[in-house]
Amino acid sequence: MAKSSAERKALQRKRQKELGVTKIELLVDNQELEMLQRNCVLRMPGREPYDYVEYLQMLIRKDDVEYKRQAEELSKRKCERCGEQLPVQQCCLSGDAKCWVTYGYRELQLNLVDKTIAK
Ligand SMILES: [Zn+2]
Repeated sequence: MAKSSAERKALQRKRQKELGVTKIELLVDNQELEMLQRNCVLRMPGREPYDYVEYLQMLIRKDDVEYKRQAEELSKRKCERCGEQLPVQQCCLSGDAKCWVTYGYRELQLNLVDKTIAK
C-alpha cells in the first residue's frame, strides 16, 4: 500500500533526524522549475504530489542505486591497459588511449536518454 503524504513526510523527518541534514542552495532555470513542478505531480498520480525537496532527495537516492548497479556491472571488466578492476577512479596511465580512465567516464556520467532534451 502506497504511503500517504503525511506518512512520507514523517518518514522523511525521521530519516533526517537519524542521518543529519545539510542545507544546500539550488539554482534552476525556468525550464527546470517547470519540469520539477510538473513531475512532482505526475509522479504521484491521484495523490498528494511530492514536495520539491522530497522529489530531489528521491532522485539523489535513485541515482545512488543506479550508480551501484552500473559499478557492479563494470566490476566484471578490467582496464585493458593496466588490468585494474573497473570502475577505476585514478590510474597512472590516465590519458593513454587504451586506459579506461581516459574514456570510461562516458559510461558513468549522467546521460539524458533523449538527446533532444540536452541543450
Ligand atoms: Zn588503466
